[in-house]
Amino acid sequence: MLEFVTSHTGNLKLIVQGYFFTKHSENNDGKILWSCEKRTCTARVHSKDDEIVHEAATHNHMLTPGQVEVERARVGLKHYCCLNSLFIS
Ligand SMILES: [Zn+2]
Repeated sequence: MLEFVTSHTGNLKLIVQGYFFTKHSENNDGKILWSCEKRTCTARVHSKDDEIVHEAATHNHMLTPGQVEVERARVGLKHYCCLNSLFIS
């Protein structure tokens, strides 16, 4: 199960091991490509069917301590749900 938050601008962010990824593109086969939210970072993950299918996540920066907790608290638990229901809503 993947974990998402929505940013204050309404963009979906994927959380992987405490790092935030923004949606980059979506393939015809349903695979979604995510890139690290830091533009200078080259880490990428691919997800499909609510799972990580590929991870090239070597970040060139440190985690921001507590960022995930802050985001979780901000969006509230009610916004946690699976990828499909997010896209339907
Ligand atoms: Zn990164």
